[in-house]
Amino acid sequence: MIQISERVTNLSQSQTLAMSQKSAELKAQGVDVINLSVGEPDFNTPDHIKAAAKQAIDDNFTFYTPVAGYMSLRKAIAANLKEINGVDYAPEQIVVGNGAKQALCNAVLSIVNPGDEVIIPTPAWVSYVEMVKLAEGVNVLVPAGIDQDFKITPAQLREALTERTRLIILCSPSNPTGSVYTRAELQALVDVLKDYPKVTVIADEIYQHINFTGSFTSLGAFPEIADRVVVVNGVSKAYAMTGWRIGFIAAPLPVAKAATKLQSQYTSNPSSVAQKAAEAAYTGSQECVEEMRKAFERRRDLVVSLAREIPGIEVNVPQGAFYLFPKVESYFGKKFGDKTIANDSDLAMYLLEEGHVATVSGEAFCLPGYIRLSYATSDDNIREAMRRIASALAKLK
Ligand code: PMP
Ligand code: GLU
Repeated sequence: MIQISERVTNLSQSQTLAMSQKSAELKAQGVDVINLSVGEPDFNTPDHIKAAAKQAIDDNFTFYTPVAGYMSLRKAIAANLKEINGVDYAPEQIVVGNGAKQALCNAVLSIVNPGDEVIIPTPAWVSYVEMVKLAEGVNVLVPAGIDQDFKITPAQLREALTERTRLIILCSPSNPTGSVYTRAELQALVDVLKDYPKVTVIADEIYQHINFTGSFTSLGAFPEIADRVVVVNGVSKAYAMTGWRIGFIAAPLPVAKAATKLQSQYTSNPSSVAQKAAEAAYTGSQECVEEMRKAFERRRDLVVSLAREIPGIEVNVPQGAFYLFPKVESYFGKKFGDKTIANDSDLAMYLLEEGHVATVSGEAFCLPGYIRLSYATSDDNIREAMRRIASALAKLK
């Protein structure tokens, strides 16, 4: 019998991608499903970025690139980070990967030894705990429910830290909740971390530009801990470029070097053409980013107002990203025919099968009792999806 390693056997499949796949399969069978599962902008990549990619092919940017990405791209990223976050990075500190996902995984694998504890506030994006498992680290989950706007407190952080803590992964604006830590809230967490110099911080800022608060502070901008903060960002969300697979870390030099070494053995480099497209994204007009941000904000208002009309679900007002994370516990124990909804996975499956709306269970984000809706879709889809959800929930007795 062919052996599959324990390392991979013990990994969970990405639930966001699995739900999206299931929804695509139903669609292929002719079922009219509205997909609110996977989180990706529904906009096309802006034309000037596509043009740069076409030009890159004609200019023969078709060879292996430096492992960490073209120097011109890393310089463009460093300049962008200086402008938007006010933080100085040398291009050598930037390592471009195949999406923010690989960039992040490079960082986790570069930092975590077997048995090291990694603090993950939950709900958390599905891949963090799996990456830590890959690195044979120990996940220490710190739950923050809707009553605290899904943000951990300094006291919770202090409580979770031990001598064995090596890393914390923070995401703001958050997937799956849309919560955004204010500068003061981050400062309070930084004040705790100051007492733990061995702890590295991964700040996943991939939703930085989809922010409705009017202000954003990067965790990389706190001088007290700047020498141990790894910032993750990329073009997928801000520039509607999910399929191009370009993301990066901006990291202390030892982490950047380790991530580069790892990547040299794993993937060599991210796609040359996609890198040139990303360079155009960072150096070109930023108007497209603002236009899409505005659209997401309008949709946020729409989805929140519609969700508030549905009895038995509780929502916060997300301040960024494009997710809503309603609490749905009041439906547990209810029945549809002889089927009982025992938990959020059952509810997500019920909404897919009965309501033809694909969502993701809170359990996938390590916080049961909720479901995640991605509202990166048209206003019409949002209205129809919320109508279907309301009517499916009303059938539960
Ligand atoms: N971090 C978070 C919080 C995300 O939601 C995503 C999107 N899947 C990523 C990282 C990875 O982004 P990318 O598509 O660039 O790999
Ligand atoms: N960030 C998206 C999501 O959470 C994309 C899918 C993934 O990479 O998990 O749905």
